[in-house]
Amino acid sequence: MSEMSAEFQKEQSTRASLLKRANLEAGFFNFIGGKRVSLGGTLDVVNPATGEAIASVPDVGQEGLDQAVAAARGAFPAWAATPYAERRGLLSSFIARIKEHEPDLIALLTAEHGRPLSTSTWELQTLTDEYGPALINLELPSEESDTKTMGHVIKRYTPLGVVCAISPWNAPVLLSFLKVLAALVTGNTIVLKPSPYAPLTVLRIADYGIDLLPPGVLNIITGGDTLGPLMTAHPGFDKVTFTGSTQTGKRVMNSVATTLKRLTLELGGNDPAIVLPDADPEKIAESLFWSMFMLNGHACISLKRLYIHESIYPAVTQALISYATQIKTGDGYAPDSALGPVQNKMQFQQIQATWAEIESSGTKVLYQGEAPDQGYFFPVTMLDNPADDASFVKKEVFGPIRSVMKYTDLDDVIRRANDTSYGLGSSVWGTDTKQLVEVASQLKSGTVWINQHASLAGDLPFGGHKESGFGVEFGIEGLKSYCSVQVIATK
Ligand code: NAD
Repeated sequence: MSEMSAEFQKEQSTRASLLKRANLEAGFFNFIGGKRVSLGGTLDVVNPATGEAIASVPDVGQEGLDQAVAAARGAFPAWAATPYAERRGLLSSFIARIKEHEPDLIALLTAEHGRPLSTSTWELQTLTDEYGPALINLELPSEESDTKTMGHVIKRYTPLGVVCAISPWNAPVLLSFLKVLAALVTGNTIVLKPSPYAPLTVLRIADYGIDLLPPGVLNIITGGDTLGPLMTAHPGFDKVTFTGSTQTGKRVMNSVATTLKRLTLELGGNDPAIVLPDADPEKIAESLFWSMFMLNGHACISLKRLYIHESIYPAVTQALISYATQIKTGDGYAPDSALGPVQNKMQFQQIQATWAEIESSGTKVLYQGEAPDQGYFFPVTMLDNPADDASFVKKEVFGPIRSVMKYTDLDDVIRRANDTSYGLGSSVWGTDTKQLVEVASQLKSGTVWINQHASLAGDLPFGGHKESGFGVEFGIEGLKSYCSVQVIATK
């Protein structure tokens, strides 16, 4: 047997055992009132690494939505009256149940995303080991005080009611279940709609854990383009929490206005990073690379515009290129893939259209890697000093194409970094701590990192300035957004 075919055979047996774990044959259901349901038609879910449909999920319309809202409304009074500590205990058990099934869920998430197993592991463990516990372990106690004008005052936080949660495809498990945990621990019930492009792992998690929660507390429905607007317009919801693009976020805001639902929007980003002249190119290259290409560039908070001081532009770009050459793009089930495909056909077509714009603009390419021909793969691409006003610098590029630019003057580059309608994250890189903090404090975004990019924590607020969002999630501030504040005053 040649070395090649031995390797191929090993890969195939790995693939077969991973597919067994993913257990696609078991089917995927919606959850309403604690029960598995299959209403309406079906939607195919495609593995973007192969382009093949691997499973289907229910395509629910108004009827399924009405049932889910009714189940959540019915479950609300008892759940709201359940003590906080008890709710937290049940949610801890839910997290533990996810953990029990981790290997199977990793295999499934990779099957629907095409991405490397390491990335799926990261997403699940970030939920179960880090952000999830940190979020539900926060306290939201009542506060008492004596005041001059109102007498003895109790300030307390009460649940809003039924939450509508809509999540995107790029980190479907994390972004769906952090909403679920925050809504439920604060005493709300929820109807969740994951993205039709990546709903499988979310549904499988519910299959594993739904019995731990009272019926109707957590409901999950899936559907196509029409379901989201039906949900945001539904009068049975008290709050909408939406994570997705800025464009859709604006539609959501419009839609909820008619019923004055509470609203949290976590939207797109076009994060800048500034590399100061005293940065060490070799030390930062790997971290800069992953800040740009984490999740194959499918991250709201990935670094999208990298500004490097002209004195070290050659050294930093060279270090970035030599790191990039070691990174293989391929099917996530292959053990040596470090980056996967663009997650879905729609996004792939958008990336191809962006690439066509880049080519016709005559922009130089700093580096372009290789990618398989089959499936929705696009190679890692770094542009060399594109114009600030190029469409592909100004818009959010949600895939593996990044702009790398030169600057001369610090004040000018801070202006360029801030010259965007987005304001999700930004970062500054260098060695002089005082200067790093000075620059960081001038950047206009919800999170600013120093010598890192895109780290978050479940117990700290996360949200976008400007058109990157409205309100925050995570942290005490995020939990409060699932509550009404009430003052009880006794004289
Ligand atoms: P999207 O806006 O196309 O879809 C997001 C969700 O909204 C999906 O579930 C979709 O089915 C649903 N939807 C579509 N139209 C709707 C409508 N009119 N009303 C209600 N719901 C509707 O976004 P996407 O392509 O799934 O995700 C990528 C985008 O999400 C990027 O812009 C990215 O930056 C952003 N994002 C933001 C954050 C954040 O925390 N700020 C996190 C992840 C992704």
